[in-house]
Amino acid sequence: MTSTIERIAPFKNEIVKNFQDPADAAAMKAALDEVRAAFGKHYPLVIDGRKIETEKKIRSLNPADPEQVVGLTSSASKAQANEAVEAAARAFESWKRLTLPERAEYLLRAAALLKQRRFAYDALLVYEVGKSWPEADGDIAEAIDFLEFYAREALRYAEPHPVVPIDGERNEMIYIPLGVGAVIPPWNFAGAIMMGMTAAAIVTGNTVVLKPSSDSAIIAAWFVDLLTEAGVPRGVVNFVPGSGSEIGDLIVSHPQIRFISFTGSKEVGLHINELAAKPQPGQKWIKRVVAEMGGKDSIVVAADADVDAAVEGVAVSAFGFQGQKCSACSRAIVDEKIYDEFVDKLKTRVAKITVGDPSDPKNYMGPVVNEAALKSISAYIDKGLKEGRLISGGKRAGEKGYFLEPTVIADVAPNATIAQEEIFGPVLAIIKAKDFDDAMHIANNTEFGLTGSLYSKDEKKIERARDDFFVGNLYFNRKSTGAMVGAHPFGGFNMSGTDSKAGGRDYLLLFMQAKTISRKV
Ligand code: NAP
Ligand code: MG
Repeated sequence: MTSTIERIAPFKNEIVKNFQDPADAAAMKAALDEVRAAFGKHYPLVIDGRKIETEKKIRSLNPADPEQVVGLTSSASKAQANEAVEAAARAFESWKRLTLPERAEYLLRAAALLKQRRFAYDALLVYEVGKSWPEADGDIAEAIDFLEFYAREALRYAEPHPVVPIDGERNEMIYIPLGVGAVIPPWNFAGAIMMGMTAAAIVTGNTVVLKPSSDSAIIAAWFVDLLTEAGVPRGVVNFVPGSGSEIGDLIVSHPQIRFISFTGSKEVGLHINELAAKPQPGQKWIKRVVAEMGGKDSIVVAADADVDAAVEGVAVSAFGFQGQKCSACSRAIVDEKIYDEFVDKLKTRVAKITVGDPSDPKNYMGPVVNEAALKSISAYIDKGLKEGRLISGGKRAGEKGYFLEPTVIADVAPNATIAQEEIFGPVLAIIKAKDFDDAMHIANNTEFGLTGSLYSKDEKKIERARDDFFVGNLYFNRKSTGAMVGAHPFGGFNMSGTDSKAGGRDYLLLFMQAKTISRKV
């Protein structure tokens, strides 16, 4: 019999759908209708395979039209969150005994199911978080990639790990799971990050309590059902939506939680890290925290850059998905020699950006995710108007949904608030640099270190940025968003997080511990 590892094809990234193709566009339209017809559906908690309806619900709204309730999930009480941890601890006892290849099969089955339902998941993201068709499909393509990639990584870790031979002993080192994990994803890659973190945790033999973001709990409910369909045994993934402050703290500090896999804001990540550090009565381990957090990402445009290419790269990095990506460009640092040309051309390019309901494919930008985001981003715009010169946008677009114009503010000082704090919306600050040296200095002047990009044709500048641009994901002459699983292992430095490099060869190690076994022979 050939083992899985021998018959599996090498990993390849999913091709994103081309919605210019009439067949794909028709399939997407049909999926949007189908998902819309199910608006208002209730999704229960899932604890130990049992579906539990609660009185209290979390409403997932369509940010393009918040009167539309995409769906409702039950909201777990503290007692139910405790039950979920206990259920995961029971399931761990059998799940940990499967081999890595056995568990990889479940991920491959889940990936196959997700491929079949690709357009429905795309459509759900359009409604639940306001993604455009291509952004939604990119998210689901990445989710499929994570499942396929981590399945193959699990097979790789199942292979023997070399140790130095010693006479008279037979030595080996193997990787074993950690235990029960809390998986806490954000809403912005509501498919990819939620599925990627969950898949990595379970394929390595852990069991999890999945607390989805309250803004994107429906897609997580779909995924938990999909895992059940793929045969994942009960208790391995327990689904407990609920407010971060109410049940989040309880789950993180539970003594049976062995690790926390978090992606989200700096504030919440630091809070979780602190809470997890404190041992609880009955706790036998130091909890492992993987926290991927915010960014304040820069694109540096050198004097010798192809300005048109830089304008295009900055525009899509800043305004794709309304700037709500941790990798989004929120600072363009431009050499003074080409500054005016860059600002003029960017203004013209941004004027072409269409804003409106993302279920209509003619709109490039949709709404921001919720009312709180709208308010907080608007407050940053007000601040920005005092800190620089408005070039484009600056206002709400439309009354009904949470739409904002793509906003560009030039002549911003390197230490201004809008040049330092993560805004997480469609707001770009342009900063003038005296020369390349100054530009590199400005690029590194925040507390973050996630992505960065340099537009330059000069090998010396590229070499210098390679050494000194302190970011986890550095790009040359291309946009700063759109990291591909396997090709661009992703994660940031400093306050951007623990640099876990999701979609890279080191990632699964974060969910395992090594055991060395020596036998006298
Ligand atoms: P967030 O507000 O920090 O929330 C992230 C998750 O944490 C949500 O599930 C949230 O649940 C939960 N949470 C909140 N308080 C908690 C607590 N006390 N204990 C446990 N969990 C708690 O972030 P977000 O708005 O969803 O996402 C945007 C942020 O994520 C941005 O800062 C962005 O840069 C960052 N991000 C980083 C990466 C990366 O790879 N570095 C990738 C994507 C996004 P509720 O929704 O119920 O509050
Ligand atoms: Mg929503």
